[in-house]
Amino acid sequence: MSVKVNNLKSCIDQFDRAAELLGLDENLKTSLKMPDRELSVEVPLRKDDGTIESFQGFRVQHNNSRGPFKGGIRYHHEVDLDEVRSLAALMTWKTALVDIPYGGGKGGIAIDPSGYSERELERLSRRFFRGIDPVIGPNKDIPAPDVNTNAQVMAWFMDEYGQLHGHTPGIVTGKPIDLGGSLGREAATGKGTAITVRETASKFGVDLEGATVAIQGFGNVGSYAGKFLGEMGCKLIAASDVHGGLHEPDGFDTKALFDYAYENRMIKGCGQGKAITNEELLALKVDFLIPAALGGVIHKMNVNDIKCKFVIEAANSPTTPPASEELFQKGIHVVPDILTNAGGVTVSYFEWVQNLQQFRWEEDEVNEKLERKMVKAFQEVASLSDEKKISLRSAAYMVAIDRVAQAFLLRGV
Ligand code: NAD
Repeated sequence: MSVKVNNLKSCIDQFDRAAELLGLDENLKTSLKMPDRELSVEVPLRKDDGTIESFQGFRVQHNNSRGPFKGGIRYHHEVDLDEVRSLAALMTWKTALVDIPYGGGKGGIAIDPSGYSERELERLSRRFFRGIDPVIGPNKDIPAPDVNTNAQVMAWFMDEYGQLHGHTPGIVTGKPIDLGGSLGREAATGKGTAITVRETASKFGVDLEGATVAIQGFGNVGSYAGKFLGEMGCKLIAASDVHGGLHEPDGFDTKALFDYAYENRMIKGCGQGKAITNEELLALKVDFLIPAALGGVIHKMNVNDIKCKFVIEAANSPTTPPASEELFQKGIHVVPDILTNAGGVTVSYFEWVQNLQQFRWEEDEVNEKLERKMVKAFQEVASLSDEKKISLRSAAYMVAIDRVAQAFLLRGV
């Protein structure tokens, strides 16, 4: 269903387009594209049966002009240096766009974790963290969860770092609440996505009450987005996960669907809707189509099937840049990932601030601050897009790149 996208090329093309519009100096462009540091480490693992396997792990630090590097750690068999490079750059632009004092980084291990026990994954995680220890720190580089890593992995990371350097909860975000995680972090990316839909509706004059929505990927991001959009009055008419989709033209009971998915980690068997495929879901005529699963799901082969009014990119890179341009030409607006899903890293930043202050905020306070950050970023992007008559994606990249370029020049070389 998704196509293998050269994310690094897409990322560079996107950067070049926005840098051109900004009129950036060639040498500055080269410097901002190049990662500051790339670390590749061997991660040996003693398996439960006593044998040893070795994996490749990476940490790429793209740019820290605006603050410490920040970004997740992914465990996936397709992880390679190019993928990590592109995701690290995406983090630089995302953190700049929501104006939080971070740069961009990313890491990962090339492993399919499903074939390993919990104890094996703990040993692997600790060993990897020791491998990247020389380049991380609460004021240097702050990892977080990503695909196939979670709060438990962050707890092991925090513990490993603490054994070497003393108790330092600010070394990672996305931790369990009991170890200094932030209230509101679990729901933050879905909440940010719902806020983005609401702001898009308001900008383009769409009535949110009864507006139709389809969500591909009803995991953490998609399910929370669906729940909050239901509370805002939207009609969720289709949802899917890796096992397939469900279509309910009269609208799901979003709370019941959320509760079922939260408990069962799938939507199949929830007792609502009729089965559809993921491809059919993407082609539904809805107001808001929210890809919230994988990268590269809207591409040149299926872009002509897309019939929604707006694509809200909750996943990272779900629309290839040429497909996104084609949608824009057809009058279908794509709200880019670096804006839509920035709620996650924003609340990760709040978690880090709370850890540094050694003080916990109430959930309402976290949500109010998230709301303000998302709305401000949306308005900046929307007004630049109107002023220059460019896509929301190009506008978002222009705002972000301009901020990083200013910080880079102010610091001096
Ligand atoms: P998740 O693992 O909780 O959920 C992913 C969902 O996608 C699951 O429902 C899964 O079944 C579904 N899925 C997987 N393969 C699929 C396929 N082939 N077809 C249809 N559905 C499929 O992950 P998540 O945390 O919700 O992340 C979703 C996306 O959002 C990812 O692209 C991630 O990089 C991005 N993202 C997440 C966060 C965050 O805070 N969680 C922040 C920024 C970006």
